[in-house]
Amino acid sequence: MIQTQQIGPVKIFFGKLPYYPYCNTLLVKGRQTLLVDPACEEKALRRLRAEEKIDFLFNTHYHPDHIRYNPLFDGIDFFTHRDDAPCFRSLDSMAEWVGVKGTPYEQTWKATLTKAFGFREKKEVKEVNDGTTLDLGGVTLQFLHFPGHTPGLTGFLIPEFEILFLADMELSPAGPWYHNKKASIQSIVDSVEKIRKIRAAISIPSHGQEVFRGDIGPRLDRYLENIYSRERKILEALSTPKTLDELASLSLISGFRLSREQVWFLFERNMIEKHLERLLDGEKISRKGDIFQRRAD
Ligand SMILES: [Zn+2]
Repeated sequence: MIQTQQIGPVKIFFGKLPYYPYCNTLLVKGRQTLLVDPACEEKALRRLRAEEKIDFLFNTHYHPDHIRYNPLFDGIDFFTHRDDAPCFRSLDSMAEWVGVKGTPYEQTWKATLTKAFGFREKKEVKEVNDGTTLDLGGVTLQFLHFPGHTPGLTGFLIPEFEILFLADMELSPAGPWYHNKKASIQSIVDSVEKIRKIRAAISIPSHGQEVFRGDIGPRLDRYLENIYSRERKILEALSTPKTLDELASLSLISGFRLSREQVWFLFERNMIEKHLERLLDGEKISRKGDIFQRRAD
């Protein structure tokens, strides 16, 4: 049995695991009901489908660990942010944004999405933007765009209850993740600063069983610090010249051993590549052909 917690109008169904391939599912109830990211656990969601009248389905972004049981809720009005909407309409777009399109990983990745995660392209996608409100009758949500992890990543605020849903700006010690081709480190930094300005008493992440109460400033600081410490590790590794593939093989960010056959090798490589772009921009490293090296201080 998975754990649940009721906070005001929000019921949290904590993911079967605190990480991929599950996430926390939220049920927000006014006179109408919104279901968010149905990916906590199959059994709990089947029960929910049978017992609750759900009016709206919302996905915070297109990642498999957030959309995996969407098919159980087919036919319900579906919302997601405009900037991630193409990935729900087309698996090919998702492959492109993730970065697997045209790589040796594409076919197995697509097969996993359609078979293990039951992905189906949606014809009807209603798009939300930053600031779009949804009135559930007695409870009003304000969608908030936190781009970076994906272009469209979106959480929300319920101002009346000062409840903030962070989605995958999950503030875990292992994050943040910018492993997709269309992810952006600078957008994540900007989203952290945007979150810092939001007044909230309770902040709910998409992963893990901890609900944050009060000031999350120190957690936001640590989240940013993770980005900078990764950058320092890469700089250190570049005291001797290396290619992008050599850097990716060191698994400086993921921290687990990666074989090149695994798509996570590509994701680690994507993350390193984004850091290299930043370091080149900041003139901390130089590039000769495929070789990167730290510049002398
Ligand atoms: Zn995600």
